[in-house]
Amino acid sequence: MQVESKAKLAPLTTLRLGGPAARLVVARDAEELVAAVTGSAEPVLLLAGGSNVVVSDAGFAGTVVLVRSAGVRAQRRGELVEVTAEAGHSWDDLVAYAVAEDLSGLECLSGIPGSVGATPIQNVGAYGQEVSDTIRSVTVLDRHTGEVRSMAAGECGFGYRHSAFRGTDRYAVLDVTYALRPGRSSGGLRYGELSRVLGVEPDGSAPLGDVREAVLALRRGKGMVIDEHDLDTRSVGSFFTNPVLDPDQWAELRRRLDEDPPQWPEPGGRTKTSAAWLIERAGFAKGYGRDGVAISSKHTLALTHRGGGSTSALLALAREIRDGVLARFGVELVNEPILVGEKL
Ligand SMILES: Cc1cc2nc3c(=O)[nH]c(=O)nc-3n(C[C@H](O)[C@H](O)[C@H](O)COP(=O)(O)OP(=O)(O)OC[C@H]3O[C@@H](n4cnc5c(N)ncnc54)[C@H](O)[C@@H]3O)c2cc1C
Repeated sequence: MQVESKAKLAPLTTLRLGGPAARLVVARDAEELVAAVTGSAEPVLLLAGGSNVVVSDAGFAGTVVLVRSAGVRAQRRGELVEVTAEAGHSWDDLVAYAVAEDLSGLECLSGIPGSVGATPIQNVGAYGQEVSDTIRSVTVLDRHTGEVRSMAAGECGFGYRHSAFRGTDRYAVLDVTYALRPGRSSGGLRYGELSRVLGVEPDGSAPLGDVREAVLALRRGKGMVIDEHDLDTRSVGSFFTNPVLDPDQWAELRRRLDEDPPQWPEPGGRTKTSAAWLIERAGFAKGYGRDGVAISSKHTLALTHRGGGSTSALLALAREIRDGVLARFGVELVNEPILVGEKL
C-alpha cells in the first residue's frame, strides 16, 4: 500500500481547497481498503473523488484513505442484470458502461463526478433518478464489528440525499450492486426539463444514449460537469439541499411570499421546494462572492472556488446565504456536502 506523510488534500478535491492530511494511504482494492481502515489507530477519513467534501483549511489530523479500487462485473438474475462495481470505480464510467451494454436505470445520473462507493452515502440523484431506485445491495466493512457484510437496499435507510451511511464513519463501502433492466430505452422520464429537450411526453421513455447525451448537455450548461477550464465547475455541485417543509413551515413560507414557490409533494404531507429559488429571492445573484469564492455564474446552488480562496471564505459565503434565506423566509438551508473539521 502506498503511504505518504503530510499529504496535500486540496488537489484531491473538486473545490481545490483544504489543508494537508497527517497521513495518506492509497487503497487499490477492497482488501487494501479493509486493511487501511482497520489498521489505523488514528481517525480515518475515506476520500474517493473528493467531489462532495469541504475540508478545513487546517486539514485532517489523521489518516486519509484514498479509495482507488476499480472493476465491474455483471450477472443476469431473472429479468434483471445485477452490476457490481468496486467502491473506487468512476461513477460516470459505470453509467457509460451501463448505457453501452443496453442496461437502463442509471442514464439520468450521467456526468456526476466521483466514485461508485460514495453514491449510496447521500443517495445520489439527478434528473428524476436516484441510486436507491436501482441499488440492490451494498458490501460494507462495519467498523463497529469488524465484519464485512452485504446490506440489502432495505437496510440502507435511503431518503432524499440521505442514507444510513451518512453522518457516521461506521461503514466503509467496498462495492455496490445495482439491478438494471436490459433494453435500449430508458424507463419513464420524471424530470420535465429532460423530457422537453428529448421531445417526449412526461413519463415517456427515450433511447439510453440520447438520454445520456441530453443529461450531459443540460448539466454542462449549468456547470455541473467537471471541466478544468471552467471555474464554475470548481464546486461540490449543489451546496444546499432543497428544503423539505412540514405543513406549518410551508404555510409560513407562502405567507411571506407574493408568488408561488416551486413545489413537489413529499411523503407525510410535506413539501419540497427549491433552495436555488429561495436564494435568488433572498437577494443572492449568480456570481455573488468575494475572497476568491463565489456563487457559480451558471447555477445559484453551486458555490465555487475562483482561485486564491480558502475553505473559511467558502463557508463564510455559505453562512451569509443561509442566514439571509432564514431571515427573509424562515427556512433554514442545510449543506449537502460533508464538512471535514468544520461546521456551517
Ligand atoms: C460538478 C458537480 C456536480 C455534482 N452533481 C451532483 C448531482 O447531480 N447529484 C448528486 O447527488 N451529487 C452531485 N455532486 C456531488 C458528488 O459528486 C456526489 O455526492 C458523489 O457521489 C461524491 O463522490 P466522491 O467519490 O467524490 O465522494 P467524496 O467527496 O470523496 O466523499 C464524499 C463522502 O463520502 C464518503 N465516502 C467516499 N467513499 C466512501 C466509501 N467507499 N465508503 C464510505 N464512505 C465513503 C467520504 O468519507 C465523504 O464523507 C456533484 C458534485 C460536483 C463537483
